[in-house]
Amino acid sequence: EIVSGDSIRRRFLEFYAARGHKVLPSASLVPDDPTVLLTIAGMLQFKPIFLGKVPRQVPRATTAQRCIRTNDVENVGRTARHHTFFEMLGNFSFGDYFKKEAIRWAWELSTVEFGLPADRVWVSVYEDDDEAFEIWHDEVGVPVEHIKRMGEDDNFWTSGVTGPCGPCSELYYDFHPERGYANADLGDDERFIEFYNLVFMQYNKKDDGSLEPLKQKNIDTGLGLERMAQILQKVPNNYKTDLIYPIIEKASELANVSYELTDDRSKVNLKILGDHLRAIVYLISDGVVPSNIGRGYVVRRLIRRAVRTGRLLGIKGDGRGNLEGAFLPAIAEKAIELSTYVDVDVKDRASRILEELKREELRFVQTLERGEKLLDQMLADALLKAQENKTVPCLSGKDAFILYDTFGFPVEITTEVAEECGVSIDMRGFDTEMENQRRQSQAAHNAVKLEVGDSADLTKDVPNTEFLGYETLSSRAVVES
Ligand code: ATP
Ligand code: MG
Ligand code: MG
Ligand code: MG
Repeated sequence: EIVSGDSIRRRFLEFYAARGHKVLPSASLVPDDPTVLLTIAGMLQFKPIFLGKVPRQVPRATTAQRCIRTNDVENVGRTARHHTFFEMLGNFSFGDYFKKEAIRWAWELSTVEFGLPADRVWVSVYEDDDEAFEIWHDEVGVPVEHIKRMGEDDNFWTSGVTGPCGPCSELYYDFHPERGYANADLGDDERFIEFYNLVFMQYNKKDDGSLEPLKQKNIDTGLGLERMAQILQKVPNNYKTDLIYPIIEKASELANVSYELTDDRSKVNLKILGDHLRAIVYLISDGVVPSNIGRGYVVRRLIRRAVRTGRLLGIKGDGRGNLEGAFLPAIAEKAIELSTYVDVDVKDRASRILEELKREELRFVQTLERGEKLLDQMLADALLKAQENKTVPCLSGKDAFILYDTFGFPVEITTEVAEECGVSIDMRGFDTEMENQRRQSQAAHNAVKLEVGDSADLTKDVPNTEFLGYETLSSRAVVES
Protein backbone atom coordinates (compact mmCIF):
# COMPACT_ATOMS: atom_id res chain seq x y z
CA GLU A 1 0.00 0.00 0.00
CA ILE A 2 1.44 3.32 -0.97
CA VAL A 3 1.97 6.24 1.35
CA SER A 4 -0.07 8.88 -0.46
CA GLY A 5 1.24 12.37 -1.01
CA ASP A 6 -1.86 13.71 0.69
CA SER A 7 -1.12 11.64 3.79
CA ILE A 8 2.48 12.90 3.91
CA ARG A 9 1.25 16.48 3.87
CA ARG A 10 -1.31 15.75 6.58
CA ARG A 11 1.14 13.87 8.80
CA PHE A 12 3.71 16.64 8.57
CA LEU A 13 1.19 19.27 9.66
CA GLU A 14 -0.15 17.04 12.45
CA PHE A 15 3.35 16.29 13.68
CA TYR A 16 4.09 19.97 14.17
CA ALA A 17 0.57 20.81 15.40
CA ALA A 18 1.19 18.28 18.17
CA ARG A 19 4.33 20.27 19.02
CA GLY A 20 2.58 23.58 19.52
CA HIS A 21 2.53 24.86 15.93
CA LYS A 22 -0.51 26.56 14.52
CA VAL A 23 -1.52 25.12 11.16
CA LEU A 24 -1.86 28.06 8.76
CA PRO A 25 -3.07 28.04 5.14
CA SER A 26 -0.74 28.31 2.17
CA ALA A 27 -0.32 31.85 0.91
CA SER A 28 -1.06 32.71 -2.71
CA LEU A 29 1.57 32.14 -5.41
CA VAL A 30 1.36 35.89 -5.94
CA PRO A 31 3.22 37.30 -2.98
CA ASP A 32 2.30 40.39 -1.04
CA ASP A 33 5.87 41.56 -1.53
CA PRO A 34 7.16 43.81 -4.33
CA THR A 35 10.69 42.41 -4.20
CA VAL A 36 9.75 38.95 -5.46
CA LEU A 37 7.75 37.89 -8.48
CA LEU A 38 6.31 34.65 -7.15
CA THR A 39 6.20 32.66 -3.93
CA ILE A 40 9.39 30.62 -3.94
CA ALA A 41 9.31 29.29 -0.38
CA GLY A 42 7.16 28.84 2.70
CA MET A 43 8.88 31.66 4.56
CA LEU A 44 7.72 34.39 2.22
CA GLN A 45 4.39 35.08 3.92
CA PHE A 46 6.29 35.42 7.23
CA LYS A 47 9.01 37.75 6.00
CA PRO A 48 7.61 40.85 7.76
CA ILE A 49 7.50 38.91 11.04
CA PHE A 50 11.09 37.70 10.65
CA LEU A 51 12.17 41.27 9.93
CA GLY A 52 10.35 42.50 13.02
CA LYS A 53 8.08 44.76 10.96
CA VAL A 54 4.86 43.21 12.20
CA PRO A 55 4.29 41.40 15.49
CA ARG A 56 3.91 37.63 15.44
CA GLN A 57 0.38 36.27 15.89
CA VAL A 58 1.67 32.95 17.17
CA PRO A 59 5.12 31.81 18.26
CA ARG A 60 5.10 28.70 16.03
CA ALA A 61 3.40 27.89 12.76
CA THR A 62 3.33 25.12 10.17
CA THR A 63 2.19 25.25 6.54
CA ALA A 64 2.03 23.40 3.24
CA GLN A 65 3.03 26.21 0.91
CA ARG A 66 2.55 26.03 -2.86
CA CYS A 67 5.67 27.37 -4.58
CA ILE A 68 6.94 28.29 -8.03
CA ARG A 69 10.61 28.30 -8.97
CA THR A 70 11.24 29.47 -12.50
CA ASN A 71 14.97 29.08 -12.00
CA ASP A 72 14.37 25.31 -12.10
CA VAL A 73 12.47 25.29 -15.40
CA GLU A 74 15.42 23.84 -17.30
CA ASN A 75 15.74 21.06 -14.73
CA VAL A 76 12.17 19.89 -15.21
CA GLY A 77 12.09 16.31 -16.41
CA ARG A 78 15.89 16.22 -16.59
CA THR A 79 16.54 15.80 -12.88
CA ALA A 80 14.44 13.44 -10.78
CA ARG A 81 13.63 16.09 -8.21
CA HIS A 82 12.99 19.56 -9.65
CA HIS A 83 9.68 21.15 -10.57
CA THR A 84 8.53 24.63 -11.41
CA PHE A 85 5.56 24.01 -9.10
CA PHE A 86 5.94 22.10 -5.87
CA GLU A 87 4.73 22.08 -2.29
CA MET A 88 7.02 23.01 0.55
CA LEU A 89 6.07 21.73 3.99
CA GLY A 90 7.42 23.99 6.68
CA ASN A 91 7.67 24.57 10.40
CA PHE A 92 8.45 28.04 11.65
CA SER A 93 9.55 29.63 14.89
CA PHE A 94 9.20 33.37 15.34
CA GLY A 95 11.72 34.13 18.03
CA ASP A 96 10.63 31.01 19.88
CA TYR A 97 12.57 27.74 19.58
CA PHE A 98 15.87 27.57 17.71
CA LYS A 99 18.48 25.10 16.44
CA LYS A 100 18.15 22.41 19.06
CA GLU A 101 14.41 21.80 18.73
CA ALA A 102 14.42 22.31 14.97
CA ILE A 103 17.09 19.66 14.51
CA ARG A 104 15.61 17.16 16.95
CA TRP A 105 12.13 17.41 15.48
CA ALA A 106 13.39 17.18 11.91
CA TRP A 107 15.13 13.98 12.89
CA GLU A 108 12.12 12.56 14.72
CA LEU A 109 9.82 13.46 11.83
CA SER A 110 12.12 11.80 9.30
CA THR A 111 13.09 8.66 11.16
CA VAL A 112 10.09 7.99 13.41
CA GLU A 113 7.04 9.60 11.81
CA PHE A 114 8.10 8.82 8.23
CA GLY A 115 10.23 5.87 9.27
CA LEU A 116 13.34 6.53 7.19
CA PRO A 117 16.13 4.20 8.33
CA ALA A 118 18.55 6.33 10.39
CA ASP A 119 21.56 5.01 8.49
CA ARG A 120 20.12 6.37 5.25
CA VAL A 121 19.90 9.96 6.44
CA TRP A 122 22.86 12.31 5.96
CA VAL A 123 23.05 15.92 6.99
CA SER A 124 24.94 19.02 6.00
CA VAL A 125 25.80 22.01 8.17
CA TYR A 126 27.27 25.41 7.33
CA GLU A 127 31.06 25.22 7.41
CA ASP A 128 31.61 27.08 10.69
CA ASP A 129 28.37 26.13 12.43
CA ASP A 130 29.88 24.02 15.23
CA GLU A 131 26.72 24.36 17.26
CA ALA A 132 24.57 22.60 14.64
CA PHE A 133 27.29 19.99 14.13
CA GLU A 134 27.31 19.22 17.83
CA ILE A 135 23.55 18.96 18.12
CA TRP A 136 23.45 16.50 15.22
CA HIS A 137 26.34 14.48 16.55
CA ASP A 138 26.20 14.65 20.35
CA GLU A 139 22.48 14.94 20.93
CA VAL A 140 20.86 13.22 17.96
CA GLY A 141 23.65 10.69 17.52
CA VAL A 142 24.35 11.07 13.81
CA PRO A 143 27.82 9.62 13.10
CA VAL A 144 30.45 12.15 11.96
CA GLU A 145 30.73 10.32 8.64
CA HIS A 146 27.14 11.33 7.88
CA ILE A 147 27.64 15.04 8.62
CA LYS A 148 29.15 17.23 5.92
CA ARG A 149 30.27 20.79 6.39
CA MET A 150 29.44 22.80 3.30
CA GLY A 151 30.03 26.35 2.08
CA GLU A 152 27.88 29.36 1.46
CA ASP A 153 26.40 28.19 -1.85
CA ASP A 154 24.71 25.19 -0.28
CA ASN A 155 24.36 26.07 3.37
CA PHE A 156 23.67 29.74 3.72
CA TRP A 157 20.06 30.39 2.71
CA THR A 158 18.81 33.74 1.42
CA SER A 159 15.33 34.41 0.07
CA GLY A 160 16.61 36.96 -2.41
CA VAL A 161 19.27 39.58 -2.90
CA THR A 162 18.22 41.14 0.38
CA GLY A 163 16.06 40.02 3.29
CA PRO A 164 16.09 37.52 6.12
CA CYS A 165 18.70 34.79 5.86
CA GLY A 166 20.99 32.54 7.83
CA PRO A 167 23.09 29.40 7.91
CA CYS A 168 21.16 26.22 7.25
CA SER A 169 21.35 22.51 7.79
CA GLU A 170 19.91 20.06 5.29
CA LEU A 171 18.78 16.46 5.38
CA TYR A 172 19.56 14.09 2.55
CA TYR A 173 18.34 10.56 1.82
CA ASP A 174 20.82 7.96 0.65
CA PHE A 175 19.52 5.62 -2.08
CA HIS A 176 22.77 3.63 -2.09
CA PRO A 177 24.12 3.09 1.42
CA GLU A 178 26.09 0.10 0.12
CA ARG A 179 28.47 2.56 -1.52
CA GLY A 180 29.87 3.45 1.89
CA TYR A 181 31.33 6.59 3.41
CA ALA A 182 34.47 7.10 1.39
CA ASN A 183 34.13 9.76 -1.32
CA ALA A 184 30.43 10.18 -0.63
CA ASP A 185 29.30 13.44 -2.21
CA LEU A 186 25.93 14.89 -1.22
CA GLY A 187 25.83 16.65 -4.60
CA ASP A 188 25.75 13.26 -6.38
CA ASP A 189 22.09 13.11 -7.32
CA GLU A 190 22.28 9.51 -8.47
CA ARG A 191 22.90 8.60 -4.88
CA PHE A 192 21.42 11.35 -2.68
CA ILE A 193 18.36 13.55 -2.60
CA GLU A 194 18.07 16.68 -0.49
CA PHE A 195 14.63 16.66 1.12
CA TYR A 196 14.54 19.02 4.12
CA ASN A 197 16.23 22.35 4.75
CA LEU A 198 16.40 23.90 8.21
CA VAL A 199 17.27 27.58 8.07
CA PHE A 200 18.55 29.25 11.22
CA MET A 201 17.22 32.64 10.32
CA GLN A 202 19.13 35.22 12.28
CA TYR A 203 20.31 37.93 9.86
CA ASN A 204 18.87 40.51 7.52
CA LYS A 205 20.92 40.95 4.37
CA LYS A 206 21.07 44.63 3.50
CA ASP A 207 21.33 46.35 0.14
CA ASP A 208 25.10 46.67 0.52
CA GLY A 209 25.39 42.94 1.19
CA SER A 210 26.16 43.29 4.89
CA LEU A 211 24.48 41.06 7.47
CA GLU A 212 22.56 42.73 10.25
CA PRO A 213 21.54 40.47 13.15
CA LEU A 214 17.76 40.18 13.52
CA LYS A 215 16.26 41.07 16.89
CA GLN A 216 15.10 37.50 17.31
CA LYS A 217 16.41 34.16 16.22
CA ASN A 218 13.94 32.32 14.02
CA ILE A 219 13.48 28.97 12.39
CA ASP A 220 12.35 28.58 8.79
CA THR A 221 12.23 25.14 7.22
CA GLY A 222 11.18 23.54 3.98
CA LEU A 223 10.57 19.89 3.18
CA GLY A 224 9.77 19.04 -0.43
CA LEU A 225 6.51 17.10 -0.47
CA GLU A 226 7.12 15.52 -3.87
CA ARG A 227 10.61 14.45 -2.77
CA MET A 228 9.39 12.80 0.41
CA ALA A 229 6.69 11.10 -1.67
CA GLN A 230 9.37 9.81 -4.05
CA ILE A 231 11.31 8.35 -1.14
CA LEU A 232 8.34 6.80 0.68
CA GLN A 233 6.62 5.53 -2.47
CA LYS A 234 9.93 4.01 -3.58
CA VAL A 235 9.66 5.36 -7.12
CA PRO A 236 12.60 6.52 -9.26
CA ASN A 237 11.62 10.20 -9.43
CA ASN A 238 9.09 12.78 -8.20
CA TYR A 239 7.06 12.40 -11.38
CA LYS A 240 6.12 8.82 -10.62
CA THR A 241 4.45 9.77 -7.36
CA ASP A 242 0.68 9.90 -6.97
CA LEU A 243 0.96 13.70 -6.83
CA ILE A 244 1.94 13.99 -10.50
CA TYR A 245 1.80 10.69 -12.36
CA PRO A 246 -1.97 10.77 -13.08
CA ILE A 247 -1.37 13.97 -15.08
CA ILE A 248 1.38 12.24 -17.04
CA GLU A 249 -0.91 9.31 -17.72
CA LYS A 250 -3.53 11.67 -19.10
CA ALA A 251 -0.94 13.29 -21.37
CA SER A 252 0.29 9.84 -22.48
CA GLU A 253 -3.26 8.87 -23.35
CA LEU A 254 -3.64 11.95 -25.54
CA ALA A 255 -0.28 11.26 -27.17
CA ASN A 256 -1.20 7.63 -27.65
CA VAL A 257 1.94 6.33 -25.95
CA SER A 258 2.73 4.38 -22.83
CA TYR A 259 5.06 6.25 -20.49
CA GLU A 260 6.90 3.09 -19.51
CA LEU A 261 7.47 1.92 -23.06
CA THR A 262 8.29 5.18 -24.76
CA ASP A 263 11.78 6.56 -25.44
CA ASP A 264 13.71 8.81 -23.03
CA ARG A 265 13.04 11.96 -24.95
CA SER A 266 9.29 11.44 -24.87
CA LYS A 267 9.54 10.62 -21.18
CA VAL A 268 11.14 14.02 -20.57
CA ASN A 269 8.39 15.67 -22.61
CA LEU A 270 5.67 13.89 -20.65
CA LYS A 271 7.32 15.01 -17.42
CA ILE A 272 7.38 18.59 -18.70
CA LEU A 273 3.63 18.40 -19.28
CA GLY A 274 3.10 16.83 -15.84
CA ASP A 275 5.04 19.66 -14.27
CA HIS A 276 3.90 22.64 -16.32
CA LEU A 277 0.18 21.86 -16.15
CA ARG A 278 0.31 21.91 -12.38
CA ALA A 279 2.16 25.22 -12.38
CA ILE A 280 -0.21 26.72 -14.94
CA VAL A 281 -3.36 25.63 -13.09
CA TYR A 282 -2.24 27.02 -9.74
CA LEU A 283 -0.89 30.24 -11.24
CA ILE A 284 -4.11 31.01 -13.11
CA SER A 285 -6.13 30.02 -10.05
CA ASP A 286 -4.15 32.57 -8.02
CA GLY A 287 -5.08 35.25 -10.53
CA VAL A 288 -2.11 35.35 -12.89
CA VAL A 289 -3.20 36.14 -16.44
CA PRO A 290 -0.95 35.35 -19.43
CA SER A 291 0.79 38.50 -20.63
CA ASN A 292 4.17 39.76 -21.71
CA ILE A 293 5.32 41.15 -18.40
CA GLY A 294 6.31 39.80 -15.04
CA ARG A 295 4.25 36.89 -13.70
CA GLY A 296 2.01 36.99 -16.74
CA TYR A 297 5.06 36.20 -18.82
CA VAL A 298 5.94 33.28 -16.56
CA VAL A 299 2.57 31.62 -17.10
CA ARG A 300 2.54 32.48 -20.82
CA ARG A 301 5.97 30.96 -21.23
CA LEU A 302 4.91 27.78 -19.39
CA ILE A 303 1.74 27.48 -21.50
CA ARG A 304 3.63 27.97 -24.74
CA ARG A 305 6.30 25.51 -23.76
CA ALA A 306 3.59 23.01 -22.85
CA VAL A 307 1.84 23.52 -26.20
CA ARG A 308 5.07 22.96 -28.06
CA THR A 309 5.93 19.94 -25.93
CA GLY A 310 2.53 18.39 -26.60
CA ARG A 311 3.03 18.86 -30.33
CA LEU A 312 6.45 17.20 -30.14
CA LEU A 313 4.65 14.24 -28.56
CA GLY A 314 2.24 14.19 -31.49
CA ILE A 315 -0.79 15.27 -29.50
CA LYS A 316 -3.48 16.54 -31.88
CA GLY A 317 -6.84 17.91 -30.91
CA ASP A 318 -8.65 18.07 -27.62
CA GLY A 319 -8.87 14.33 -26.97
CA ARG A 320 -12.63 14.44 -27.52
CA GLY A 321 -12.57 14.21 -31.26
CA ASN A 322 -12.07 17.88 -32.15
CA LEU A 323 -8.77 17.97 -34.03
CA GLU A 324 -8.69 21.76 -34.02
CA GLY A 325 -9.38 21.87 -30.29
CA ALA A 326 -7.05 22.74 -27.44
CA PHE A 327 -5.44 19.85 -25.56
CA LEU A 328 -4.03 21.58 -22.49
CA PRO A 329 -7.47 21.89 -20.82
CA ALA A 330 -7.91 18.10 -20.99
CA ILE A 331 -4.63 17.60 -19.11
CA ALA A 332 -5.34 20.51 -16.78
CA GLU A 333 -8.58 18.81 -15.71
CA LYS A 334 -6.47 16.04 -14.22
CA ALA A 335 -4.32 18.54 -12.32
CA ILE A 336 -7.50 20.19 -11.03
CA GLU A 337 -8.83 16.81 -9.94
CA LEU A 338 -5.72 16.34 -7.79
CA SER A 339 -5.92 19.81 -6.25
CA THR A 340 -8.27 19.16 -3.32
CA TYR A 341 -5.71 19.23 -0.53
CA VAL A 342 -3.22 21.52 -2.27
CA ASP A 343 -5.65 24.43 -2.61
CA VAL A 344 -9.36 24.00 -1.91
CA ASP A 345 -10.27 26.96 -4.11
CA VAL A 346 -9.01 25.52 -7.38
CA LYS A 347 -12.04 23.35 -8.11
CA ASP A 348 -14.39 26.31 -7.72
CA ARG A 349 -12.31 28.21 -10.23
CA ALA A 350 -12.00 25.32 -12.67
CA SER A 351 -14.14 26.76 -15.46
CA ARG A 352 -12.26 30.07 -15.45
CA ILE A 353 -8.91 28.28 -15.44
CA LEU A 354 -9.87 26.00 -18.32
CA GLU A 355 -11.31 28.90 -20.35
CA GLU A 356 -8.20 31.02 -19.90
CA LEU A 357 -5.99 28.11 -20.82
CA LYS A 358 -7.99 27.23 -23.91
CA ARG A 359 -7.96 30.80 -25.16
CA GLU A 360 -4.21 31.18 -24.66
CA GLU A 361 -3.45 27.84 -26.30
CA LEU A 362 -5.57 28.52 -29.39
CA ARG A 363 -4.15 32.01 -29.72
CA PHE A 364 -0.63 30.64 -29.60
CA VAL A 365 -1.28 27.81 -32.04
CA GLN A 366 -2.42 30.28 -34.68
CA THR A 367 0.95 31.94 -34.85
CA LEU A 368 2.98 28.90 -33.85
CA GLU A 369 2.59 27.10 -37.14
CA ARG A 370 3.71 30.06 -39.20
CA GLY A 371 6.48 30.76 -36.72
CA GLU A 372 7.71 27.17 -36.74
CA LYS A 373 8.09 27.22 -40.52
CA LEU A 374 9.99 30.48 -40.33
CA LEU A 375 12.21 29.22 -37.52
CA ASP A 376 13.02 26.04 -39.47
CA GLN A 377 14.00 28.22 -42.41
CA MET A 378 16.11 30.48 -40.20
CA LEU A 379 17.88 27.51 -38.67
CA ALA A 380 18.56 25.95 -42.07
CA ASP A 381 20.00 29.25 -43.24
CA ALA A 382 22.16 29.57 -40.14
CA LEU A 383 23.52 26.04 -40.61
CA LEU A 384 24.25 26.65 -44.26
CA LYS A 385 25.96 29.94 -43.58
CA ALA A 386 28.09 28.37 -40.86
CA GLN A 387 29.12 25.60 -43.20
CA GLU A 388 30.11 28.06 -45.92
CA ASN A 389 32.04 30.32 -43.57
CA LYS A 390 33.37 27.46 -41.43
CA THR A 391 31.98 29.09 -38.30
CA VAL A 392 29.81 27.93 -35.43
CA PRO A 393 26.10 28.01 -36.40
CA CYS A 394 24.32 30.90 -34.73
CA LEU A 395 20.90 32.49 -35.05
CA SER A 396 21.01 36.27 -35.14
CA GLY A 397 19.46 38.38 -32.43
CA LYS A 398 17.30 40.00 -35.06
CA ASP A 399 15.81 36.66 -36.14
CA ALA A 400 15.13 35.65 -32.54
CA PHE A 401 13.49 39.01 -32.01
CA ILE A 402 11.21 38.68 -35.05
CA LEU A 403 10.08 35.29 -33.74
CA TYR A 404 9.44 36.83 -30.33
CA ASP A 405 7.78 39.99 -31.47
CA THR A 406 5.73 38.79 -34.43
CA PHE A 407 5.17 35.12 -33.65
CA GLY A 408 5.06 35.15 -29.87
CA PHE A 409 7.94 32.72 -29.42
CA PRO A 410 9.42 33.23 -25.98
CA VAL A 411 13.16 33.46 -26.62
CA GLU A 412 13.64 30.50 -24.30
CA ILE A 413 11.64 28.34 -26.72
CA THR A 414 13.61 29.61 -29.70
CA THR A 415 16.80 28.80 -27.81
CA GLU A 416 15.55 25.32 -27.00
CA VAL A 417 14.57 24.51 -30.59
CA ALA A 418 17.79 25.99 -31.95
CA GLU A 419 19.89 24.00 -29.50
CA GLU A 420 18.15 20.81 -30.61
CA CYS A 421 19.59 21.56 -34.07
CA GLY A 422 23.02 22.51 -32.74
CA VAL A 423 22.51 26.23 -33.33
CA SER A 424 23.25 28.83 -30.67
CA ILE A 425 21.56 32.22 -30.32
CA ASP A 426 23.08 35.67 -30.29
CA MET A 427 21.51 36.68 -27.00
CA ARG A 428 23.32 40.01 -26.90
CA GLY A 429 21.90 40.86 -30.28
CA PHE A 430 18.46 39.82 -29.05
CA ASP A 431 18.79 41.97 -25.94
CA THR A 432 19.82 44.93 -28.10
CA GLU A 433 16.68 44.49 -30.21
CA MET A 434 14.58 44.31 -27.06
CA GLU A 435 16.25 47.42 -25.73
CA ASN A 436 15.57 49.28 -28.99
CA GLN A 437 11.93 48.33 -28.81
CA ARG A 438 11.73 49.34 -25.20
CA ARG A 439 13.17 52.73 -26.05
CA GLN A 440 10.65 53.18 -28.84
CA SER A 441 7.78 52.22 -26.55
CA GLN A 442 9.15 54.63 -24.00
CA ALA A 443 9.24 57.39 -26.61
CA ALA A 444 5.64 56.61 -27.57
CA HIS A 445 4.73 56.51 -23.91
CA ASN A 446 6.33 59.90 -23.30
CA ALA A 447 4.58 61.36 -26.34
CA VAL A 448 1.22 60.24 -25.00
CA LYS A 449 2.14 61.62 -21.64
CA LEU A 450 2.68 65.08 -23.10
CA GLU A 451 -0.75 65.00 -24.66
CA VAL A 452 -2.58 63.82 -21.58
CA GLY A 453 -0.76 65.99 -19.11
CA ASP A 454 1.70 64.79 -16.52
CA SER A 455 -0.67 64.12 -13.65
CA ALA A 456 -2.20 60.98 -15.13
CA ASP A 457 -0.74 57.62 -14.16
CA LEU A 458 -0.25 56.26 -17.63
CA THR A 459 1.22 52.96 -16.64
CA LYS A 460 -2.32 51.90 -15.74
CA ASP A 461 -3.42 52.23 -19.36
CA VAL A 462 -0.46 50.49 -20.88
CA PRO A 463 -1.36 46.79 -20.57
CA ASN A 464 -4.42 47.05 -22.80
CA THR A 465 -2.57 48.65 -25.68
CA GLU A 466 -0.16 46.91 -27.98
CA PHE A 467 2.96 47.78 -25.99
CA LEU A 468 3.91 44.15 -26.19
CA GLY A 469 7.58 44.57 -25.55
CA TYR A 470 7.16 47.16 -22.87
CA GLU A 471 9.13 46.40 -19.74
CA THR A 472 9.84 42.92 -20.99
CA LEU A 473 13.55 43.31 -20.76
CA SER A 474 13.52 44.11 -17.09
CA SER A 475 10.84 41.57 -16.25
CA ARG A 476 12.79 38.89 -18.10
CA ALA A 477 15.72 39.59 -15.82
CA VAL A 478 13.45 39.03 -12.85
CA VAL A 479 11.89 35.93 -14.38
CA GLU A 480 15.27 34.34 -14.92
CA SER A 481 16.82 35.21 -11.58
P1 ATP B 1 18.09 21.73 -4.76
O1 ATP B 1 19.48 21.88 -4.23
O2 ATP B 1 17.66 20.30 -4.91
O3 ATP B 1 17.84 22.55 -6.00
P2 ATP B 1 17.32 23.81 -2.97
O4 ATP B 1 18.51 23.73 -2.04
O5 ATP B 1 17.35 24.82 -4.04
O6 ATP B 1 17.09 22.34 -3.64
P3 ATP B 1 15.72 24.87 -0.81
O7 ATP B 1 15.75 26.28 -1.22
O8 ATP B 1 16.60 24.46 0.30
O9 ATP B 1 15.97 23.94 -2.11
O10 ATP B 1 14.19 24.47 -0.53
C1 ATP B 1 13.76 23.63 0.53
C2 ATP B 1 13.25 22.29 0.01
O11 ATP B 1 12.25 22.46 -1.01
C3 ATP B 1 14.30 21.44 -0.64
O12 ATP B 1 15.05 20.73 0.33
C4 ATP B 1 13.47 20.51 -1.51
O13 ATP B 1 12.95 19.43 -0.75
C5 ATP B 1 12.33 21.40 -1.95
N1 ATP B 1 12.57 21.96 -3.30
C6 ATP B 1 13.36 23.01 -3.62
N2 ATP B 1 13.33 23.29 -4.94
C7 ATP B 1 12.47 22.38 -5.48
C8 ATP B 1 12.00 22.16 -6.79
N3 ATP B 1 12.38 22.92 -7.82
N4 ATP B 1 11.12 21.15 -6.99
C9 ATP B 1 10.72 20.37 -5.97
N5 ATP B 1 11.13 20.53 -4.69
C10 ATP B 1 12.00 21.53 -4.43
MG1 MG C 1 17.60 24.64 -6.08
MG1 MG D 1 20.26 22.48 -2.34
MG1 MG E 1 18.42 23.53 0.02
